[in-house]
Amino acid sequence: MMSVVWRLTTILLLVGLAAAGGALLDGVPGAMLAALVLLVAAVLRDSLALSRLIAWLKAPESAPTPQGTGAWAEVFYRASRQLRLWSGRLRYEESKLQRFIEALQVSPNGVILLDENNQIDWCNATAAQHFGLDAQRDLRQHAVHLIRNPEFVAYLQGQQFHEPLHMHRAGSRGQFTLSVQVFPYGDQQKLLLSQDITQFERTEAMRRDFVANVSHEIKTPLTVLGGFVETMRDMPLDDAQRQRVLDMMQTQSDRMRHLVDDLLVLARLEGDPYPPPEQAIDMPAMMAQYKSEAMALSAGRHQIAADVRTDLWLRGSPQELHSALSNLVSNAVRYTPDGGSIHLEWDAVFENDVPRYAEFSVADTGIGIAAEHIPRLTERFYRVDRGRSRESGGTGLGLAIAKHVLLRHQAELLVHSIPGKGSRFVVRFPATRVVAPGAAQGVPAAPEDTREAA
Ligand code: ADP
Repeated sequence: MMSVVWRLTTILLLVGLAAAGGALLDGVPGAMLAALVLLVAAVLRDSLALSRLIAWLKAPESAPTPQGTGAWAEVFYRASRQLRLWSGRLRYEESKLQRFIEALQVSPNGVILLDENNQIDWCNATAAQHFGLDAQRDLRQHAVHLIRNPEFVAYLQGQQFHEPLHMHRAGSRGQFTLSVQVFPYGDQQKLLLSQDITQFERTEAMRRDFVANVSHEIKTPLTVLGGFVETMRDMPLDDAQRQRVLDMMQTQSDRMRHLVDDLLVLARLEGDPYPPPEQAIDMPAMMAQYKSEAMALSAGRHQIAADVRTDLWLRGSPQELHSALSNLVSNAVRYTPDGGSIHLEWDAVFENDVPRYAEFSVADTGIGIAAEHIPRLTERFYRVDRGRSRESGGTGLGLAIAKHVLLRHQAELLVHSIPGKGSRFVVRFPATRVVAPGAAQGVPAAPEDTREAA
């Protein structure tokens, strides 16, 4: 206000001076002319400055700030300062928004912002993938036109958002399940969050199956045991009958004990994030032990042989490896009909005198396994023939335990089998686990070939 008053005063003063000068030269007409000329000059100067200001304001960032004199210098200065201030603030807000969007983009959950008409305001890449949307093209489209699932449409229109909706969808990765929930905010806008819960559902289903399997496995021998108890209580038995019943009860209780033992081993292995305590294992001695275990189990019904390389020991957990490898051996005996043969082997493959890997294998001439079952053998309670497994005292957990143990030893389990002809289970240990006989830890094996029958 002050500057306007000052400027008007200056102009009036100058006009007055010009008029006085003009009056001195030419009386009243001179004064009027001089005042007019000065006023026209002032108006011209202001119009010029104003048009420069307007031209600059149209694209202030691409042109230098105009220079002016007097009050115009201040106008230009203040306008340019204000603009700088605003554009700085704008850049800051934009970068904040950008960071916010980037954070939403990396979210593993889908995020969709809906306006009051359920039109898509914005969505992140995960939501686009969950619902098959195009994050650019589908903006401003109605959500229910794009996500045509009837349950979703009912959910969105029903306005009952306190519970999430579970939606089954098909995508390029196959079937998946989404948990979708809407959170109203602002002026009838909605935040829609989606989460892929396929893995969670699978784990839940596995947990349920596991509990059902365990209950079933325990229920069967318990029922049998209960039956025997009743028999002993209600029926007069002679000594021989009582002995037979007691033997059968013993078999059932052994079965339950095996199952519980295997469950405990499995639970310990699954819950243990640490590598097993390791030592150098005398594998030739272990092979001799496996062979005698197999002979004891077979009780002369099979031919059992072993080929053992004597210059290779293994670094690992003796207890864990024993439970995994002896299970493969006992399976070979249990799934090979009488008269069949079983062959154990411990060997290594060398490359330029350096071991590439060591292999434990057990081959049998047993019933074999059809190809479709092989990938599932290490699942808990997976059996090709449930009856046969139970009859021979199987719990259905042996190979699941073996898989965990071998994983903890960075070893690989390979299964080759032909139904009716036999199977070969191979455990391949990495070279880093091979040690020389008598080694404390990690001494590389001597390369000369010293195979012998155990
Ligand atoms: P189980 O206690 O039933 O033997 P495992 O986990 O050890 O459980 O084995 C899973 C299934 O794999 C067995 O039930 C059986 O059907 C099959 N299997 C394992 N080893 C052999 C083998 N050597 N020959 C044929 N089938 C086998």
